[in-house]
Amino acid sequence: MNQDNDWAQAVAFHGHACVGLALGYRAGRLALTRLNSSRSPDEELIAIVETDNCALDALQVLTGCSMGKGNIFFRDYGKNVFTIGRRDTRQAVRIAVKTLDRILDAGFQDLRTRVMTGQGTEQDSQRFHELMAGETQRVLNASDEELFKIEEVELDFPVKARLFSSITCSVCGEQVMEPRARVRGGNPVCIPCSDEYPSRI
Ligand SMILES: [Zn+2]
Ligand SMILES: [Zn+2]
Repeated sequence: MNQDNDWAQAVAFHGHACVGLALGYRAGRLALTRLNSSRSPDEELIAIVETDNCALDALQVLTGCSMGKGNIFFRDYGKNVFTIGRRDTRQAVRIAVKTLDRILDAGFQDLRTRVMTGQGTEQDSQRFHELMAGETQRVLNASDEELFKIEEVELDFPVKARLFSSITCSVCGEQVMEPRARVRGGNPVCIPCSDEYPSRI
């Protein structure tokens, strides 16, 4: 596999190059190496991800685990942790991003915090974007051990994605997959039409 090409594909999919994307790229590449696997055309690999951020886009491109195929599982723990498993060999590797204090420039981290929390000036924001390319490169050049805590783990592999039949919501008339439908007054309804759906903010 051509590494430069993989990175270019990840950037094209994500829309920009950034530190988070580089972390996902490195994690994806590491997982494929550890599992001795190539990108998953179907559901050969699965990924359990503990946050949703820029890293996921690269991870999806690299591993072929995607939301659309149903072989990526999102657990909203707010942790930069990715567990990738291979169904046929039952191997799995858990990759946790370490603190990047020794990788990234301290000034960049402060700047990032200010810009991301909306406290930065226009100048801060400009400087942040100027520094991003270099900081991204630092992540791409770091060793696996500098970036990640890496463990082989036992994994309960989730069942493969299943196809469900659809039924028609009795309120809006749209199709909804059967396990997601609710019953109201004896009639099937979709979640947005059911009372349990919170009103939009
Ligand atoms: Zn990004
Ligand atoms: Zn409905």
